[in-house]
Amino acid sequence: MLKIIVLGGGVVGISTAYFLTQADHEVTVVERREGPGLETSFANGGQISVSHAAPWSRPELPGQLIRWIGRRDAPFRMVPQPDLDMWRWGIAFLRNCNSSRFHENAVRLQRLSTYSQEMLTRVRESSGIQFHHTARGILSVFRSQEAFDAAAVHAEALRDEGVNKEVLDVNSCFSREPALRNSDVPIRGGVFSPLDECGDAHIFTCELADHCSRRGVTMLYDTHVQTIDTVGGKAIGVTTDQGHLAADAVVIALGSESPRLARPLGIKLPIYPVKGYSVTIPIEGRNQAPSMGIADEERKIVVARLGDKLRAAGTAELVGYDRRIDERRAHSVLKPMLELFPNGGDADKVEFWIGLRPMTPDGSPVIGQTDIQNLYLNTGHGSVGWTLACGSARLVSDMISGTQSDVNPTVWSLGRYH
Ligand SMILES: Cc1cc2nc3c(=O)[nH]c(=O)nc-3n(C[C@H](O)[C@H](O)[C@H](O)COP(=O)(O)OP(=O)(O)OC[C@H]3O[C@@H](n4cnc5c(N)ncnc54)[C@H](O)[C@@H]3O)c2cc1C
Repeated sequence: MLKIIVLGGGVVGISTAYFLTQADHEVTVVERREGPGLETSFANGGQISVSHAAPWSRPELPGQLIRWIGRRDAPFRMVPQPDLDMWRWGIAFLRNCNSSRFHENAVRLQRLSTYSQEMLTRVRESSGIQFHHTARGILSVFRSQEAFDAAAVHAEALRDEGVNKEVLDVNSCFSREPALRNSDVPIRGGVFSPLDECGDAHIFTCELADHCSRRGVTMLYDTHVQTIDTVGGKAIGVTTDQGHLAADAVVIALGSESPRLARPLGIKLPIYPVKGYSVTIPIEGRNQAPSMGIADEERKIVVARLGDKLRAAGTAELVGYDRRIDERRAHSVLKPMLELFPNGGDADKVEFWIGLRPMTPDGSPVIGQTDIQNLYLNTGHGSVGWTLACGSARLVSDMISGTQSDVNPTVWSLGRYH
């Protein structure tokens, strides 16, 4: 049994603590906030995108970025910062926007998302936790014929690779999701991913944290990690604003903040925050909210029903660590959701939220041992951290425990950036 400190109490850190305690280690989670899941894991899009997860660095993106320049409601926005890390990250991201890298990155992501779904199912079944989980699939809808035709070709190609996708004409979309019949905008067709699921990542994180506490995991909230301490190239613990904590192993699961703690140790993490918005409205008895996950591929938003709430999430902004809410940007997420589901909920009671996605240039997390002995990474989950949390947590737990992993662990290492 090892004494292990997990840094960060987001969905990734808490899932990591769960698998480590399952493997009989003595685990402590250190989180600066007053509870679990209050940063990027708080109000995300809720999509568990098993067959939908794809890297953002794709061949067509550079052209789209140019077309979006100057548009206030564009899905992507960049405010250049006097920050070398942003430029380095941006260049590395663009280098991944070619067909061969995209394919390689997509396959890697697909493998982990499939494995992660299996692990999430195990967590759900063995812990019994509830988090507004639904397994009704995710339907991507298209407003223009051109986009639908292109998506249909892409879906067929994915089907050839064994990914479960169904191309649906407009009437089949309405049969699958009757709430779409009320859409204010025309729908030309859709692509249905039957294996995909939805759930509230924040509730999951809180419930799993409670479950872990009952199994003996120590949760240190309101505790700010200041340094990771090493002796002779070996991690020996951390210093926090509450004092020193000793450990046999340390896992960095600090989301967008990970690079800041790793840098003093000479570890350069290719992670940069990509800001996104979500909007949440109460359904309050209205009967036109969707029951399955929806992706509006042209407006770049996802929509999920989470219990008695309807949520949409989207936008990507390179604005450094700026956490301010710009209501105009938030409305660029709310508007397309209300176009699709005009009576899906009470928009007068909308709640806006932003989160900083811990994004790597190739869209996959970095998981595994660092050059410092006993210091591990489980971070950089970008736009799919909820989808990947349980799989990557199990992976890092297996690595620390020296257990043979079900998926190839080497492809996730930081080494792929050197
Ligand atoms: C708008 C939006 C929509 C999204 N939609 C989806 C979706 O539909 N599906 C999906 O799979 N993913 C989605 N994501 C991505 C997903 O939310 C993230 O990848 C995931 O939450 C990252 O989890 P994490 O635990 O790594 O980071 P976090 O949740 O940010 O956790 C890191 C924790 O570390 C703590 N911390 C940081 N520094 C310190 C320190 N020095 N000391 C102590 N604690 C510290 C923070 O307080 C935080 O709680 C979305 C993200 C956004 C922004």
